Amino acid sequence: METALTLKGLDVRYGPVQAARGVDLIAAKGGVTALLGANGAGKTSTVMAIAGARKIHAGSVSIFGQDMTGATPDAIVRAGVAISPEGRRVFSALSVEDNLTLAGSVLGDGARAARQKAAMMERFPILGERRKQLAGLLSGGEQQMLAVARALMSGPRLLLMDEPSLGLAPQMVDTIFGIVEELRDEGISILLVEQNATLALDVADHAVILANGEVAAAGAPGDLKNDKLLQAAYLAA
Ligand code: ATP
Repeated sequence: METALTLKGLDVRYGPVQAARGVDLIAAKGGVTALLGANGAGKTSTVMAIAGARKIHAGSVSIFGQDMTGATPDAIVRAGVAISPEGRRVFSALSVEDNLTLAGSVLGDGARAARQKAAMMERFPILGERRKQLAGLLSGGEQQMLAVARALMSGPRLLLMDEPSLGLAPQMVDTIFGIVEELRDEGISILLVEQNATLALDVADHAVILANGEVAAAGAPGDLKNDKLLQAAYLAA
């Protein structure tokens, strides 16, 4: 199997707090891999370590077959990885368009950045309509779209999505999960961090459950869904 991402024995620590310990994970190329678990299980720390934004204390990260352990965030972007972070983190005081322009500026290719920006406005028409509006005035769902659009500006092959549905109205949650499927259909590999396990297991083709920083279970979504003990222990909303 060709893999987009392979983690082996990943450890992430904050002083005495071990946020991830010995995490093994494989995300297939072109698939959706769900990373599930309760609050504080270590999902965000794992994702941030993959993105090069947290120190890796032990273990390895390989991206499309290339060892990227300890690489800088820039190098990780160049390897084809982008992140839509937890909490969206759009620049509230900038317009929608300026948020995308800023993301495009790291491409170092003005023409390509302009093309990408136009493509994002086309893909997410609501962002096109609101291009001059301050990002902080968008609804939560629109901000999530902007966060995804910003991540897509670099043309990633692997997209890390941290809790994209958090705090959104049910209809918008459906829209966001629809976008996940669209991106997957376009060939982008996705690591989907979610507390909404039911929805994530519906869209994923592989899932990993973290508990206290460790992998508690991994496998086919159908199997995990049907495991009542697992559901009760780790996935109860
Ligand atoms: P959430 O869904 O709440 O984001 P999570 O599964 O993503 O949870 P993490 O945010 O990775 O979990 O947190 C894992 C552990 O690491 C928790 O015990 C948390 O308190 C701790 N932690 C996270 N960030 C820091 C930090 N910057 N400094 C110290 N401890 C941290």
